[in-house]
Amino acid sequence: MIKKIYKFGGASVKDAAAVRNLKNIVVQHKDEDIFLVVSAMGKTTNMLEKALKDFREHKGELGIEALGEVMSYHEKIILDLFDQNHEHPVIESVSELFIELWEKLQCTDQPYDYQYDQTVSYGELISTTIIQEYLNHCDVPCRWLDARKYVLTDDRFRSASPDWDETRLRISKLNEEHIHGIVCITQGFIGATVDGKHTVTLGREGSDYTAAIFANCLDAEEVTIWKDVDGLLNADPKRFNQTVQLPHITYSEAIELAFYGASIIHPKTVKPLQNKGIILKVQSFLHPDHTPSVIDGKADPNIERTPSYIVKDNQTLVSISPRDYSFMNEHNLRLIFGACDELNLHANVIQTSALMLSFCFDHDEEKLKGLVASLRETFQLKYNKGLTLFTIRHYDYSYTMGDAFLQGKKVYLKQSSRSTLQYVIER
Ligand code: ASP
Ligand code: MG
Repeated sequence: MIKKIYKFGGASVKDAAAVRNLKNIVVQHKDEDIFLVVSAMGKTTNMLEKALKDFREHKGELGIEALGEVMSYHEKIILDLFDQNHEHPVIESVSELFIELWEKLQCTDQPYDYQYDQTVSYGELISTTIIQEYLNHCDVPCRWLDARKYVLTDDRFRSASPDWDETRLRISKLNEEHIHGIVCITQGFIGATVDGKHTVTLGREGSDYTAAIFANCLDAEEVTIWKDVDGLLNADPKRFNQTVQLPHITYSEAIELAFYGASIIHPKTVKPLQNKGIILKVQSFLHPDHTPSVIDGKADPNIERTPSYIVKDNQTLVSISPRDYSFMNEHNLRLIFGACDELNLHANVIQTSALMLSFCFDHDEEKLKGLVASLRETFQLKYNKGLTLFTIRHYDYSYTMGDAFLQGKKVYLKQSSRSTLQYVIER
């Protein structure tokens, strides 16, 4: 039985030293029936997005340049890992993947979301190919699995959802095939349509979700997300300097934090784990001996004693009022949220008054235009772009870090519930 899923994100495999570090962690735990889910190396996904954009905008030269950068970045890592051996078979396997990628980048007549999934998915195919070869090279027996044979989904390209029955059927067989001592590796982020014909992706940062899908279908005991920070912190250390680690939180607290924009875990990750009572750990790959943060279903009064600070940029705040001065009643709310639902527009904070409804959402020009177009006749709409949503969970206990952050910033909206205080502010 596979017991533990380890997810390694881009930063944890960003260069040869990082891959060696991954290998050391795997060696340390190789008798624990682990299964690896790995992202594209470093910023590869961004680089591939850039290449795709250039090809589609008929700036082929720039696209070739961007692709060339992705190639030389990986080549450097390979040569470093395999002692500058230009003959190692991994070079041929990776070159073949680049040739396929190159061909798929030419198909610019395809719809954008579709071509995106057929091309950007190569980041993960390449990284896992290199890492599998490297683990075998270091005498750590490793089996490569194509996630597209296991994670089967609908055909919503760029944000595919699993077909759980099919996916479970395929993945659960891996428990029967599992041989103690052999580590399996597969790609995060990618899958295929149920007919097996088309590659899909699960949305940016989707590798955490992949780890949760495998864990759920394998009935694993735990998932560990290896990060470059010491577990789950109460704020982003890039923005706040006095962060503390949250040693334990519940599944529901994790969902709340992810919902408000804490970027440490992909929001969809928790549900498949909660449904099976699978423990989620967030652990530092830089300090693997540091105690991880644990997320599970156990209630814990301490959770409410540490405030968490979450910053979400690039928000658009809209204020909507009926043109005929009717109240912001249920009928009007239904019209407005009906339009949001149609547009797949998700409101982050909502506030109503007698004549006005305000909410903010992750800025998306198309969605904003769509909203204005569908409500304009009945409502007056005003909006501000480029704002920041600042959320404090469990705010009653201390404001200090929040106060400093809010200092001198204009507040557009403020709202509090028993456990959460939110501000929409200028950046
Ligand atoms: N490589 C993908 C991304 O950068 C998926 C992931 O890393 O989770 O979004
Ligand atoms: Mg991530």
